[in-house]
Formats: sequence, C-alpha cells, structure tokens
Amino acid sequence: MVVPYKHEPFTNYGSQENQDLYKAGLETVSSYLGEKYPLIIGGERIFTEDQIVSVNPSNHKEVIGSVSKASRELAEKAMQVADTTFNTWKKVKAEVRADILFRAAAIIRRRKEEFSALLTKEAGKPWNEADADTAEAIDFLEFYARQMLSLKDGIKVESRPGEYNRFNYIPLGVGVVISPWNFPFAIMAGTTVAAVVTGNTVLLKPASTTPVVAYKFIEVLEEAGLPAGVVNFVPGSGAEVGDYLVDHPRTRFISFTGSKDVGLRIYERASKVNPGQIWLKRVIAEMGGKDTIVVDKEADLELAAKSIVASAFGFSGQKCSACSRAVIHQDVYDQVLARSIELTNELTIGNPEERTINMGPVNDQAAFNKVMSYVAIGREEGRVVTGGEGDDSTGWFIKPTIVADVAEDARLMKEEIFGPVVAFCKANDFDHALEIANNTEYGLTGAVITNNRANIEKAREEFHVGNLYFNRGCTGAIVGYQPFGGFNMSGTDSKAGGPDYLVLHMQGKTTSEML
Ligand code: GLU
Repeated sequence: MVVPYKHEPFTNYGSQENQDLYKAGLETVSSYLGEKYPLIIGGERIFTEDQIVSVNPSNHKEVIGSVSKASRELAEKAMQVADTTFNTWKKVKAEVRADILFRAAAIIRRRKEEFSALLTKEAGKPWNEADADTAEAIDFLEFYARQMLSLKDGIKVESRPGEYNRFNYIPLGVGVVISPWNFPFAIMAGTTVAAVVTGNTVLLKPASTTPVVAYKFIEVLEEAGLPAGVVNFVPGSGAEVGDYLVDHPRTRFISFTGSKDVGLRIYERASKVNPGQIWLKRVIAEMGGKDTIVVDKEADLELAAKSIVASAFGFSGQKCSACSRAVIHQDVYDQVLARSIELTNELTIGNPEERTINMGPVNDQAAFNKVMSYVAIGREEGRVVTGGEGDDSTGWFIKPTIVADVAEDARLMKEEIFGPVVAFCKANDFDHALEIANNTEYGLTGAVITNNRANIEKAREEFHVGNLYFNRGCTGAIVGYQPFGGFNMSGTDSKAGGPDYLVLHMQGKTTSEML
C-alpha cells in the first residue's frame, strides 16, 4: 500500500546542519559548471555544434552549462522516436509507471540540496525559493503517481441487467511539453511526469535560460528506470523547434507554461489541422497573471503589508502568481503603504548564494530591460516610493519597487510585468476594490485581507480568479492542497497539482458488453 500523500516539508535553514548541506550542494554544482550537455533522443546522446549557453543571472560571466540545440531534423527524429515508443509505453501497467515516479522522487530527495543549489545558480533563486521549487518537484512526482493509481481502473458507471459497462482512461499519444524558466524544476518536472505517468510519450523543450536543471532531471528519470524514448530532451528555439513540434501532425497534445503571447500563439497554431493529422490537438496552457491583494478597512494591517511584500518580491516577482497590484481601502491605504515601504526597505538584494539574501536577480537581459521599462512607466503613472533602480553590470538586479497612487486603469494595473514591481491603488470601498481586482484580462490568483466575514463571502463569489486566498499572500500554492491554475487569459484553467489534472492527458473509453 502506498502511504497517503503529504507535501514535502520546507527546509529550515536556521539550522547549521542544513546550511552546511546547502553549501555542499553549491560545491557539487560548482564541480560541473560549464559542462556541455547533449540532446537525448531515444536514450541516445546527441551533441550539436549549435548550443544554448545557460548563465548565472547573478553573475552573467559564469556559465552554468552549454546545452545542445535541436534543429528541425533532430526534432523530427525525436518525434519519430516518441511516436514509436508510445506503442510500447502505453501498454506498461499504470503501477509500473507510478513506481518510476516514486523512485525518481526518492532520488531527488537524496540530492535535494544539489538541486536547490543548482536553482540558485541557474535561476537566481534565494535558498528558500530554491528549496520550495525542489520540494514542489518532489510533490508533483508523489502526487501524480498516486493520482494515476486511483484512476487506473477507470470510473464506475452503471450497467443494466445483461450488460456490463466500463469507463476507462487511455493515453493520448505524443505530448510536447514546453516548460518555463521561473519554476525550472517544479513545473518542468510536473508537466513532464503528468504526461508520462498517464502513458504518453514526451518531447520536452525546456526554457532556454534554464536547460541544465532539466537535463539533470532526465538523468534522474533514467536512473529511476524510465525506458529510453519515453521522454526526449529537445531544447531549442521557439521559432525553430517549438513551432515545428506544435504544428506536427503526430503531436497529440501540448502542455505549455509561459507567457500569454506564446500561449496564444501555440493555441492558435494547435487549432490548425495539418496534412496527415487525424485528431484535434489538445492544449494545456498556463499563462500569465495580474494578481491582486485586496485590503479591506477591517483587517490586520501588518498581515496585509507582509503579504503584499512577500507576494510581490518573492523570487523577484517572477511568478505568474505574484502580487503586482495592491488594492487598498482608502481608510487604511496610507498605513498599509507606509508599512509596506518599511518592509521592502528591509529586504536584502544580491547574489542569492548568500543565505541572508532575500531577493536575487531577474532572469536575463530581456527581463531586465522589460521590467525597467515598466519602472519608467510607473514614474509617469504614479509615485515610485521605493526602489526604481536597476544594475545589470554583473547580474540582472532590480530593486524591489513600489509605485503608489496608481489609477485603476493605468498600464501598471493591467499589464503583466513579471518582475519586482507592485502598483498600489486606492479603493473607495470594498465593492470598488473587488471591481478593480476583476478589471483585468487575467484571472490567476488573488488574496483578500479582511476580518469581515460578509466580505470574505462576497469575494469568494465575485473575485474571479482560479486561486483565491484569504488572510495570506497570493503565491505558494501547494501540490495536492491548492490546485493551481487560472481563468480567462491566465490559461485553460488546467489545475496543476489538482484532482482532475491527469485526466487532461488522457481520453475516456467506454466499453459495453452484452452478457
Ligand atoms: N504555483 C506557483 C505559486 O503558487 C506559481 C507558478 C508560476 O509562477 O508559474 O506561486
């Protein structure tokens, strides 16, 4: 019997022992910095001339690794391997597929600090954020394995006398998984194994700024016993390889996490039936957010400020769940703003290899430029009351920035910034605050800080987001506890880490036998 699922606990870095483990992890990662990594197609290692160079965003001179880049020819080869392997993998028993995930989770647990340290180096994550990313990767493996065990015999349907009806889930085929750089371990691993445990084969195209952690994960899957060809590692450019695979007639589904623009492009391309294609492709898309924390007048204002600051600046605001709008009742606006500025000014910024650093860099030069352009817009649309400066000389660092007194229809209140910038906006009353909160094309996360029960119930009904939190921040959903995914332009409301996620990777087959 499998023990019940429980999420992986977070590491307490207050303890010297855990600090030493993390430092040992950093040393392990340092020992393989700058290595060259191949593509993996059907288990075969293929090195290419053309490489993606992954650098440390805290120190862009430091190369984490160079990863071979798939061309269209290699993408085609990977597709053929995945397509052929599907014929055998789909027949492997669900228990065996689940066992591979359990074993992979155990391997990662043993190498936890190494993976977290790699996330610090490759993605610029402070210790606690890196630890949470690794823990979430473990959670996805543990959770989806159990979910598959509960789905393997299908769902009960009724039968009339003399007939025997069954309803079972069968896999779809080859899935293209396109994963993001902001949760380069958890979301990459979660989207890959959800497809695999349900009996599909995968072409994994990881984000180009964080491919090394993805490669290390494929090695873990291999060690855990995943047969060659089930997951094929094909890093490459979106235009060259991404489009090719999305368009491919043998692609059965696409699982994408990333920006709205890329998500919409994939959704549109996937809707076209290409020559030789005999199905409608399925798209699972997790896109952006413009997430709001609403603060009521009857509220714990200290909790409000802490929640805003933690949700806005955790991992430099580079979460689609990040708080990028604080909408505050006019009676308490000045107090919450003042306290949020104080808390923000206490944050330490720098290379997150140091344990005491609260906030590291942003992802790359493009992210730096984009966020700084929104800081400039913020100066026009409101008052920059703290932060507002960036320095890209060594790494891509931007100070946590609060823009106060922003109007509800300003660009800063509508457009996803994906960086450490939060807009503060004053609301006349609670209803007005909810109206502002809903006034975006997205609908991913939101939080309400209030002690007013009637307002909690009103928000529960009216605040239109996939993940709504009361009296806490709006980031940090836990697999199996807070299924994660949004409404409207935030995606297809595919709830990662939720009870119906795996079903999106399968199709239901009804059989009816006359007895
Ligand atoms: N699941 C994460 C959270 O709840 C966010 C994932 C993302 O940014 O893509 O904070």
